[in-house]
Amino acid sequence: MRNLVLFGPPGAGKGTQSERLQDHYQLFHLSTGDIFRYNIKNETALGRKAKAYIDQGQLVPDELTIHMLAQELDKHPEAAGFIFDGFPRTTAQAQALDKLMEQHQTQITAMLALEVEEEELRKRLLARAEVSGRSDDADPAVIQKRIDVYRQETEPVKKYYQSQSKLDQINGMGTIDEVTKRLFEAVDARP
Ligand code: AMP
Repeated sequence: MRNLVLFGPPGAGKGTQSERLQDHYQLFHLSTGDIFRYNIKNETALGRKAKAYIDQGQLVPDELTIHMLAQELDKHPEAAGFIFDGFPRTTAQAQALDKLMEQHQTQITAMLALEVEEEELRKRLLARAEVSGRSDDADPAVIQKRIDVYRQETEPVKKYYQSQSKLDQINGMGTIDEVTKRLFEAVDARP
């Protein structure tokens, strides 16, 4: 079983590249951002709790996020492996994910960390706002908050995977195809 963490700042291309990885390696794509947005749209209790954080560019609390992810994992016992997109975003989430993997008799194969310059992130997010309809992409102040939260709370998660020799840093600049090629090479290099 192959389980990949696709990591990177907002606008790094995690969603786009997850689709490529999902098709190529037959993995199940789990995006915590997508699951939150689905819950907000359907006005569930979880969606109501998460909305205020997301609108402000802050992280949804670990307890809620981890509980949600655990439930999602249980919904897909047939999956041959997962791509975790946008999770874990804190070290506590990374530790919880290791425990969940253990409970499912598997483990994380690698963390693929996309590296993209900040100016490029801002450009991509504003361009995405035109088509995504996401309010958190349209407001420069919320974009900056999300980038700041990434640097402060999320980027340290790389160290967690580095200490397990599972970190692959990938240049996320360039065309979508170029980045996909780099990702496939990194995945193929891990047995
Ligand atoms: P994304 O679609 O990954 O950009 O996520 C959109 C928003 O959902 C983030 O800005 C957070 O507010 C929230 N979110 C998504 N994943 C997580 C997570 N793993 N932990 C906390 N909040 C999250």
